[in-house]
Amino acid sequence: MLAGGAVFDARSGAVSRADVVLAGDRIVAVGVGLSGDVVVDCAGGLLVPGFIDCHTHVSLTQTLGSATAVTLPRSARQLSAVPVLATLLRNGVTTVRDAWGADAGLRLAVRQGWVAGPDILVSLRQVGTTGGLGDHWVASQGTVDAFGDPSMPDPVFDGPEAARAVVRRMVRAGADWIKVTATGSMARGVGVHDVQLTRAEMSALVDEAVNRGRRVMVHAHGARAAELAARAGAHSIEHGVFLDEAAVAAMAEAGTWFVPTLSVTQADPEHAPEGTPEAHRHAVRLAVRAGVPIAMGTDNPVRPHTEVLREIEYLALAGLGPVEALRAATWQAARLLGVADDRGEIAEGKRADLVLLDGTSVEPAGLADRIRAVWHNGRVVAGRD
Ligand SMILES: [Zn+2]
Repeated sequence: MLAGGAVFDARSGAVSRADVVLAGDRIVAVGVGLSGDVVVDCAGGLLVPGFIDCHTHVSLTQTLGSATAVTLPRSARQLSAVPVLATLLRNGVTTVRDAWGADAGLRLAVRQGWVAGPDILVSLRQVGTTGGLGDHWVASQGTVDAFGDPSMPDPVFDGPEAARAVVRRMVRAGADWIKVTATGSMARGVGVHDVQLTRAEMSALVDEAVNRGRRVMVHAHGARAAELAARAGAHSIEHGVFLDEAAVAAMAEAGTWFVPTLSVTQADPEHAPEGTPEAHRHAVRLAVRAGVPIAMGTDNPVRPHTEVLREIEYLALAGLGPVEALRAATWQAARLLGVADDRGEIAEGKRADLVLLDGTSVEPAGLADRIRAVWHNGRVVAGRD
């Protein structure tokens, strides 16, 4: 039993004194004056649900933006996630959605306990049209697919029929989510306002994904690509640096989620492309005002995974405030990922994924330094002593 602390209700945002009783991998009771066999003293602390990063790349630390992508053996790429996953657990992150890079073997390794880490939902590759982000092509040699591997299928498609086929390839290889790139990238600095696929292609992707019990997450910086994706029924817009009124209106109407990944522009604003830190915060404010649901995602290793919880601080500062930012990283994130019946809040029957923080403040600044203990599946996986 976790006794004598305060508990953050991630559904309502309220904080109140309560004990929490765990049994196996579950929370079995939350209330005042409970009893249990083993007592963990939580006095002076705040219990929050395990954090959920809805946009991370756990297997790309060794390859992103470097030449090693082509020289590393396939296994090395996946094994590079081992220390990353340990870092995430230490920071209280108990579930992640990998926005490409991790294969289904890594998800299995965590499930089997071969590797310690948060639960992983995988998307394998970022699918996209010819010349898009996932199209590894150089003028001198043509296609050089540094990530090519039967477990990481070919992500390039053109046309609605091919869109259905690429979803089938990803599902066959174990994808939980379909990740599509609808604009260019901030890092490469090109095509951020482009719309890199047609309405028919996006609709086909969504339809086929839904038919297979999957959902589509969309990399989009520009407003027009985000608007098109929302109208086609995509489940979440990632980054959204340049969202405008029309885009957030389309998202609000369709119930599309927004995962801003503010770490990309807010962590080092001096080196972010001109005007993007302000534009990004503006996009978040527009989304909040329009009633677009927001969930936390970092896009790390754009920043080191040790900084994962800084994203909650950026969300708070961009307009969510401390309580909504914490909800974005817990209950709202669980809803986006479709796991809210199982986790994302401290409530009876939910999975025992919890973080004990020093002090009862909900202020997100310095969150990582306040972590006293982390439980994942009812077991202590990190702690100060
Ligand atoms: Zn990303």
